[in-house]
Amino acid sequence: MCGVFGAALPRGSGTEAAHVAALGLFALQHRGQESAGLAVSDGAELFLYKDLGMISTVLDERRLPSFHGDLAIAHCRYSTTGSTVWENAQPTLRLGPRRAVAIGHNGNLVNTRELLGMLHGGRGRLPASTDTELLTALLADEPGEDTVEALVSLLPRVRGAFSLVILDRDRIIGVRDPHGFRPLCIGRIPDVSAQVPAPGGLWGDLEIEPVDGPRDGWVLSSETTGLDIVGAEYVRDVEPGEIVVLEPGRAPRSVRYARATPALCVFELIYFARPDSYLEGRSLYEARRRMGEQLAIEHPVETDLVMPVPDTGAPAAAGYAEASGIPYREGLVRNRYTGRTFIQPSQTLRHRGVTLKLNPLREVVRGKRLTVVDDSIVRGTTTQQIVALLRRAGAAEVHVRISAPPIYHPCFYGIDTQVETELIAATKSVEEIRQFIGADSLGYLSIQGVLAALELPYERFCFACFDGRYPEPVPYDVEARKFLLEEPVAARG
Ligand code: SF4
Repeated sequence: MCGVFGAALPRGSGTEAAHVAALGLFALQHRGQESAGLAVSDGAELFLYKDLGMISTVLDERRLPSFHGDLAIAHCRYSTTGSTVWENAQPTLRLGPRRAVAIGHNGNLVNTRELLGMLHGGRGRLPASTDTELLTALLADEPGEDTVEALVSLLPRVRGAFSLVILDRDRIIGVRDPHGFRPLCIGRIPDVSAQVPAPGGLWGDLEIEPVDGPRDGWVLSSETTGLDIVGAEYVRDVEPGEIVVLEPGRAPRSVRYARATPALCVFELIYFARPDSYLEGRSLYEARRRMGEQLAIEHPVETDLVMPVPDTGAPAAAGYAEASGIPYREGLVRNRYTGRTFIQPSQTLRHRGVTLKLNPLREVVRGKRLTVVDDSIVRGTTTQQIVALLRRAGAAEVHVRISAPPIYHPCFYGIDTQVETELIAATKSVEEIRQFIGADSLGYLSIQGVLAALELPYERFCFACFDGRYPEPVPYDVEARKFLLEEPVAARG
């Protein structure tokens, strides 16, 4: 996962790009909660600030006023390569012999070992252990007139998933890998008016007036919700294999560095992206509601109530209830301040997270036969605890319905399920999973059901964690190598 955002504002607009980027990032907090950061250019120098923690803690109102400039990128992290330490927070910044660049990366590279060999013939040193740090070092050293030319030269050697926001002194740049595994869209802020946020009122006082002209600002965001929060209108997605260049006072430029072979992560539509975002021209709320309808057709069950596992199971539960005619009720209340269970980095935290974040409404569930709708089962422990919670609260029956197919295979493109043995469906049958989670019945939506809900062809997406058909070949030694760049140099071979 990870969330990335970039802002290029017209010179002298009076609005700081750092403020716009931080505000945009705020809408992407769900994509990564381990660290956050910001890099800014004032046209002469690049400045960086990053730290471990949530966005509101790292980029708070005491720190933001010190960032000045018309160009900024921002990032929130969910780790897929390297530990959760300060050095691995992003953006990364490199002052290379040829250029100074900062990068925010959503995705995961699969030829990290090969790229490491390219860094000063394998003798280069990195200050951190992420694939993004490596990519930044390579870009800072790559020959070329400017950053765009260097990217056109470097990117064909980079493999894996990467949606990037890049900052140099004069521009921000958006890039997607040729498969476009992770989303990235372009927005336009009509006339960034000179509204300087009042001290102490940063989030509320940024005002943007809708007037056409050369004072337009341009932004890049992982999701369309990032555009909404800064008042930008959606222009289009950065296309797979495309480089988009955004400079103050100029119309955006586009360079294609590779042929597009689209394979957007279907899990973005099922679960990861926010329901109020749009992907592939689809409202994700609507897509998920239709997945729930399909689920009711594929796995009907006679119960008293349909309820979601909040919050992400809600649209599919609504669709299931509508299609089945069973009343919809909320039977679990979520504490919104403990984060998303799946994306916390260690098993210990994950375990604690479930009991911290969900509480049953006993009056609703007592004595009832329940259909409980969620959007995924990864390791099974979360679902097991939810079923136990509901039984303790007096549920008569608990039938679990999942609005995605079983996850059989690890992801190497930016989701931290890199070890197959962590995936319950990889080692247990559906009946064994049902027994493990303690449900009365269990049903998963099929791949055909997902496609029917999306009304889009299979070929547009990556379904690899469901069917093992990886769009980008994954070298054998990449498996389980989250900490590849933390091994001693001699051990890398
Ligand atoms: S393997 Fe699964 S989670 Fe990873 S990109 Fe493909 S569909 Fe998404």
